[in-house]
Formats: sequence, structure tokens, C-alpha cells
Amino acid sequence: MRILITGGAGFIGSHLCERLLADGHEVIAMDNLSTGSVDNIAHLAGHERFHFIKHDVTSYIYVPGPLDVVLHLASLPSPVDYLNFPIQTLKVGALGTHKTLGLALAKKARYLLASTSEVYGDPLVHPQPEDYWGNVNPVGPRGVYDESKRFAEALTMAYHRYHGVDTRIARIFNTYGPRMRADDGRVVPNFVCQALRGEPLTVYDDGSRTRSFCYIDDMVEGMLRLLLSYEIRPVNLGNPQEMTILEFAHKVLEVTGSSSGITFVHPTDERTKDDPKVRCPDITRAREVLGWEPKVLLEEGLRRTVAYFRERL
Ligand code: UDP
Repeated sequence: MRILITGGAGFIGSHLCERLLADGHEVIAMDNLSTGSVDNIAHLAGHERFHFIKHDVTSYIYVPGPLDVVLHLASLPSPVDYLNFPIQTLKVGALGTHKTLGLALAKKARYLLASTSEVYGDPLVHPQPEDYWGNVNPVGPRGVYDESKRFAEALTMAYHRYHGVDTRIARIFNTYGPRMRADDGRVVPNFVCQALRGEPLTVYDDGSRTRSFCYIDDMVEGMLRLLLSYEIRPVNLGNPQEMTILEFAHKVLEVTGSSSGITFVHPTDERTKDDPKVRCPDITRAREVLGWEPKVLLEEGLRRTVAYFRERL
């Protein structure tokens, strides 16, 4: 297949590029490099089936030739990034989704939207099944990301219903692994880099919020299975092993063997406003429809992630 991946130089995008090339497809990675990096795809340069186009998907997209698949991953998924670039975040979720859906329609390509667990906001149903509609504060600081993805899902379904575009919606929960940006502000790179530098791990507030972390290889497998399935409804992809952020900090200290301590920080900026208190995917649908569930244990995934950051630091 000939496949376009927006956000192809990002964390998840670059792993997808690699996997799709290995599976024999032709891959066109598109990225404006605002948070993605050519370092993530440098090893693919020169591959005869790999192309890179530097472009911002909020502007009209031109791709010469046929396309079988459009994967729309371009986004600013780190809370620190979307708090710093709120308007760009809204634009990529809204205008970028519109442009990429228009492209999929014109090329008669299958379309996959990388959506997010953030559509559930600060959830009142736990764990979160796909038919839960969520609890999002539209005017809070996280609203720029959450609402852009909720709009993106609505637009994707509208293109499916009105234009008959063959669409898929992946609701991606916290994912980690090599090629996350060391400074993207999310908990995995923060804790791993702090542990490796011998600095205390910055646990926000009392560390009682929960998350569930999925290793990148499992996520890529889930996304490809969804792409190749016939499931039009949104599908949660994530690891249901839930833990508190404090427990996660201890896990990072254990895996790195670091003597860094833990410090409790109370951010005074908007970083933790509307921060979901709990988050855990109900992956019943993914299990039933895709025959998928995560395989990589947290210790193993963390070891690989730590090795990556150790080399870079
Ligand atoms: N967090 C933390 N210390 C950090 C970074 C994040 O305690 O240095 C917390 C954050 O408040 C949230 C959780 O870890 O409760 C996960 O945050 P992240 O930014 O990774 O992504 P989110 O799951 O909120 O989208």
C-alpha cells in the first residue's frame, strides 16, 4: 500500500513508518517538525520506499500520485506543548483533520484518526469504555487538546457518514518508549531523565492520580490491526495495567537503579488544572474485534526506554 502518515517524524509516527516499511509498504511521512524531529526518521532516509515531506497539515495538502491509506497522527499530545501552543493545537485537530480527510476522500484512501483517551476528560466512569462520552471542561487549559480531538472524531464520522470515507478512530492512551522527546514534559521522559541525571523525580501534588502505560510496539501493533479491521467505531488502545504516579516513580527508580529521591511539587501554573484523577482503558472492544492486547511488561518497556535515554543523555 502507499501510505501517508502525518506526524511521521514524531514519537508514534516514526515507529509506524518503520513498521510499515518493514511490512513492505511505501511510506510518505509528513511533518512540520514543530515537535517531531528528523532525528526520529534519519535512519529511514535513503530507503527506496520512504519519502519525507515537510509540511504543516493545517494548510492545503498536496501529495502526488495515488494513496491507499492516510494515517493522521499530527498533533501536540504533551500537556506542556499544548499549553504552550494552544491555538496550533486546536488548528491541527480541526483544520489538519479537515485537510487530511479531504485528501483521503479525493484519493479514495482509508483513513485512520489518532484520537486520544483525553476525549474522556476527567472521567466519571472507570475504566473508560468507548461508549462513555466523557467529562471535558471545554474552557479549561486542557480543553484545547481534548476538544480538538473530540471535533476531529466528529468530523471523521461526518466524512464517513456523508462522503462514505472508510474511517477508523484509535483512542490512544498513555504510550511510552524510545523517541519520546526528553523535554516534552510528560511523566515518562521527565522521570526517566531525572533518574538518569540523579535528580529527584518531580511527582506533582500527592502522586495519587492514576495512569496506565502502553509500550510503543504494542501500540503500533494495535493501530495496524485497527487499520486492517472493519471497525468504524472508536477503539481504545492502551494498557489496562493502572497505577498511581507515585507507584510509577518508584518503578522508574527501581528499573534505573537510581538513587534519586522523590520530590512532591505543586505546580502553580495551569499544568495540573483539570488533570484527570484516574485513567485506564477498557480494552474489551480491542480484544474482541482486533484480537489485540498489550504484551510488553512495564519493566521490559521501561528498560528499553531507559536504554534509549541513557544513550542520548
Ligand atoms: N506528572 C508528574 N510529574 C511530572 C510530569 C507529570 O507527576 O514530572 C503527572 C501529571 O500531573 C499527570 C501524570 O503524571 O497526572 C501524567 O502526565 P503526562 O504529562 O505524562 O500526560 P497525561 O496523562 O496527563 O496526558
